[in-house]
Amino acid sequence: MKTYDVVIAGGGAAGLSLACALAEPRWAGLRILVVDAQSKQGHDRTWCYWERGEGPWDALLSRRWETMDFFGPGGKELPLDLRPYAYKMLRSGDFYAHADRVIAAAPHVDRWQTRVEAYEKASNGDVLLRLQQNSEGPTTVQAPLVLASTPLEGWEKEARQGLWLEQHFAGYFLRTDEDLPRHDRGTLMDFRVEQVGGYPCFVYVLPLEPRYALVEYTVFSPDAWTLEAYRPRLEAYIHQTMGLKPGAYRVEEVEQGRIPMSTWDFGAAWRRRYPELTGLVPVGVMGGLARPSTGYTFRNIQRHNQAILQSLAKALLPTGALAPVASWRDRLNYRPAQRFGWYDQALLRVLVEQRYPGANLFERLFAGNSTPDLLAFLDGESRFSAEIGIMNSTPRRIMATAMLGL
Ligand SMILES: Cc1cc2nc3c(=O)[nH]c(=O)nc-3n(C[C@H](O)[C@H](O)[C@H](O)COP(=O)(O)OP(=O)(O)OC[C@H]3O[C@@H](n4cnc5c(N)ncnc54)[C@H](O)[C@@H]3O)c2cc1C
Repeated sequence: MKTYDVVIAGGGAAGLSLACALAEPRWAGLRILVVDAQSKQGHDRTWCYWERGEGPWDALLSRRWETMDFFGPGGKELPLDLRPYAYKMLRSGDFYAHADRVIAAAPHVDRWQTRVEAYEKASNGDVLLRLQQNSEGPTTVQAPLVLASTPLEGWEKEARQGLWLEQHFAGYFLRTDEDLPRHDRGTLMDFRVEQVGGYPCFVYVLPLEPRYALVEYTVFSPDAWTLEAYRPRLEAYIHQTMGLKPGAYRVEEVEQGRIPMSTWDFGAAWRRRYPELTGLVPVGVMGGLARPSTGYTFRNIQRHNQAILQSLAKALLPTGALAPVASWRDRLNYRPAQRFGWYDQALLRVLVEQRYPGANLFERLFAGNSTPDLLAFLDGESRFSAEIGIMNSTPRRIMATAMLGL
């Protein structure tokens, strides 16, 4: 049995962001372990997010955009000025490589590649982790604080009982022989595609270079598709809307993924499953950080991590150790402002129950509001006065009844 001060269980976006921060010398008095079932290498996802001004991952970005375009379902083009926000693209391969370097250089941070099999209560009240047999260390470790992004068993079945959609997508990183027609502008959302089954479907185009772009086909619907189901639609967009002939581009990589859009209370579910483990704190998607109405998650994760680090800093003793805390789970709980929960619920209900076409709803939102106000709203950091204007730009009766659950 080995003991640590902090175990980071799951080293993906949330876990590795935390590990990079905790690798800094100010935390050198803590013994920290990062455990992940996989060796995270190479590119397995692309994170896009908007942020005001500079951010912690700017040095790693593939590109950023301050102006972009939106296309409504009927073809209406809206040029978007995002400033003071920028839309940023971070490729996971660059992020993982950076995390590898940072963690390897921090003697107080250990990293093991093994699976967490179970969380239990240790005799002193710590969280005990049972790990799969591995070459890295013992099969049990314990810590007073465990930051977990590993899946909670059975979560999806339960979450699907409530308001549920998935943001699911497939995209090509493609390289062309000629400059792309709109290579100087990103397309945030293009709804000029069939709205399959009445659910919102859109494409985004993010040119990284004049002849290299990510083109991704995205759907908000209850179930993700197979790759083969996206292909003809994605390729029709590339050929017909972008105007690229089939032989005029090469697909260098394919990206596919799904993100839950759900108002299910992840935090409460962890409490029910592990009532006694007050040191077990869910983070990342498993902490409920995916925004129910949009699926955007990465910025939420960074915000939650900042709050976690601030709390840890307050508990850091002059000796470099952490003061004992009665319930890390209560202290580090993810708490969005309640009214954003209502907005999310309303937007998601309208989309799930198809009370109003999602494509038209997004067009109204982008056409009727300043882009920075809308981005702040979608990020849960808008002012109440701006939110009234935003709600007024939507079909108000429909939104109001959806908000009340009627
Ligand atoms: C393809 C894709 C693209 C996305 N793009 C965006 C985007 O553009 N913008 C945005 O805001 N969000 C995006 N998301 C959503 C979200 O930001 C990501 O899913 C993000 O990676 C979530 O971070 P996480 O740490 O919660 O989970 P992950 O990054 O998935 O990390 C979880 C980690 O836990 C490990 N693990 C799982 N089980 C165990 C176990 N039993 N023991 C040990 N380790 C375990 C996994 O190996 C993994 O490394 C995307 C998601 C996907 C899948």
